[in-house]
Amino acid sequence: MQITNVEWSELQIPLKKPFKIALGTTESYHGIIVKICTAEHCGFGEASPSPRITGDTVGSTIAALTRFKPVLLGSDASEIGAIMRELEKSAVSNTTAKAAVDMALYDLLGKYTNMPVRNILGGEKEKIETSLTVSIGSMEETLKSAEALIDSGAKVLKVKIGLSPEEDILRIREIRNITDAKIRVDANQGYSLKRAIKVLRAIERYDIEFAEQPLPANAIDDLAVLRSAVEIPIMADESVHSSVDVLKLIGKVDAINIKLMKSGGIYEALKIAAIAKAAGIKIMVGCMIETKLGITAGTQFALGIGADYADLDGYWDLREQPFNGVEFKEGANIIPKVAGIGATKVD
Ligand SMILES: [Mg+2]
Repeated sequence: MQITNVEWSELQIPLKKPFKIALGTTESYHGIIVKICTAEHCGFGEASPSPRITGDTVGSTIAALTRFKPVLLGSDASEIGAIMRELEKSAVSNTTAKAAVDMALYDLLGKYTNMPVRNILGGEKEKIETSLTVSIGSMEETLKSAEALIDSGAKVLKVKIGLSPEEDILRIREIRNITDAKIRVDANQGYSLKRAIKVLRAIERYDIEFAEQPLPANAIDDLAVLRSAVEIPIMADESVHSSVDVLKLIGKVDAINIKLMKSGGIYEALKIAAIAKAAGIKIMVGCMIETKLGITAGTQFALGIGADYADLDGYWDLREQPFNGVEFKEGANIIPKVAGIGATKVD
């Protein structure tokens, strides 16, 4: 399984509509597809740089991949742990580039063993319920978006909040008025402790599954204060990137959101998941804006570890779908029964 070639290409896809969250607005997706080949197979991985979350940009990700290439060439692709440790020596952080390499290596491993990645990781099921996302907008936009997602089969809505407490409370109330679907909220660090307590107490009555990252990423102790002040379970997202981060959250949150772009791929994400499970912290697997390649990898990981929740809808707003992979049916992501990650390029 000696690696003989490593290459990558940039990808730019406009979004169907601007994606607004408390951290800012995104109008198009700019990612990188990584291809790692041996004599027999090629594995594919995706990098979705998100400067506001991981600090990575397209430029920094390509610079990291350029550093990683000589480490990868000639290595045994099946020795994923050894390779990831070598990449760590070559460049710390740069989790987006590492995630793409790791994804391509697991894809290769699956192709060699003729197994879907979820089986390599220990999974049993073939599908997992996923939320679909309502971004921040006017009341009219919010309801239009929620209705369209429910019509598409959504059983769980993830509603972005975090800019205006008053509007957020009203938006949640009105969405609850039109649907019995599960509702989870994500403030993307937008609130102070005081505002978070106010909003979460006000929306408790609308049966909220959990609230994701209400406070700034570094406000770890305040997350614990918030958790004891409200009924809605608290999930950390931007506060947890690595296995070291999750140790600091034990006893302070109910759940965490693992994303391959934050962890630097499946290899590190497995450690995060193991610590979280041992500590009684529930796990959601989430995503950035990604094509079906990254989302299928995330779904394989979620199934492989038996995640409690999934938020794997990053391809929904893309105007074009360059990859086939997961299919969304009756509220869940279903992965194809093929070896590896299970995503193929659309010709
Ligand atoms: Mg989030």
